[in-house]
Amino acid sequence: METALIDIKKKVDAGLRISESDAFALLSSNDLLSIGMMADTVRRRKNGDTTYYIVNRHINYTNVCMNGCKFCAFHKKPGDNGYTLSLDVIREKAVEGKAAGATEFHVVGGLNETLPFSFYIDMLHTLRDVDPSIHIQAFTVVELAFIAEIAKLPLDETIRLLKEAGLGSVPGGGAEIFHPDVRSALCEKKISGEEWLAVSRAVHKAGLHSNATMLFGHIERKEHIVDHMSRLRSLQDETKGFLSFIPLVFHSGNTEYTGIRAPTGSELMRMLAVSRIFLDNFPHIKSFWIMLGLKMAQLSQFFGVDDIDGTVTEEKITHAAGASTPENISRAELVEMIEGGGFHAVERDTLYRHIKR
Ligand code: SF4
Repeated sequence: METALIDIKKKVDAGLRISESDAFALLSSNDLLSIGMMADTVRRRKNGDTTYYIVNRHINYTNVCMNGCKFCAFHKKPGDNGYTLSLDVIREKAVEGKAAGATEFHVVGGLNETLPFSFYIDMLHTLRDVDPSIHIQAFTVVELAFIAEIAKLPLDETIRLLKEAGLGSVPGGGAEIFHPDVRSALCEKKISGEEWLAVSRAVHKAGLHSNATMLFGHIERKEHIVDHMSRLRSLQDETKGFLSFIPLVFHSGNTEYTGIRAPTGSELMRMLAVSRIFLDNFPHIKSFWIMLGLKMAQLSQFFGVDDIDGTVTEEKITHAAGASTPENISRAELVEMIEGGGFHAVERDTLYRHIKR
């Protein structure tokens, strides 16, 4: 093991928190197997050999978005040929999801100024009417801030009304990279990192859980990654409201960064492992197989990951940026992928309760 990692390993073995400079050292190291072993120690302490998956249905209700983030291939500018699903179509997709055994509707979209606040409430009612037992995880943190603006209501009140209409938890997207040097280049119109954290704090205060994402593999540097994770760790110390951390690997196709060098396999695994080691107060680390690919997602289980997301069905966002993975996967294929790596596949609901079929 590299000498720089020996003291970090001692901390990990003792269950102690590692520092920001430790995280930087790990991100700078090529000793991938040592880093993986440390992440595996934390993973097994928290989750044993369990890897979770979920049967869910994604519904991307509109791709019209006024933010125009440079890394986003999904959105269409207002006035271009974007789409917005009608409530009838949303209901049809939800009915399909229910028939396929979904326990979660995963609902996110763009910031579409033509949609009134009542659309969001009606959409939640529509989904709830299809089956009130199916959990609705909806709206990135960025959408929540936008919906409050549209509603012309304080954020807390907006969240309260959405929760009353059926919102069960928040997926946590839109975090990208908090540091202003990167954020202003990637997505200057998006809420700031501080605002993202403040909205998440309000979500947790309202009694809802959420996740936290980080988009990496573009123009960020290691110090930005450490800063991002550090801010999340501090908020989690305060609220304990995050269920999982989801490092999302950037796909450059059809974006302003087309052709940018993609992270290598070992860089991907190192990022996941370091997040598992650093975010000691996050119960779960998720690798989104849609972005990593099935084989890398399987390997990620050895690098701290205990959740490989779900059956998804009809993923639009990463595929708009050129992802070559399927748009969905069967439960049997997910289980085979997890167990083929020697881990124990457990179906979960959104809140990580075990599902028995
Ligand atoms: S990332 Fe989200 S907020 Fe940014 S342009 Fe795409 S849909 Fe809009």
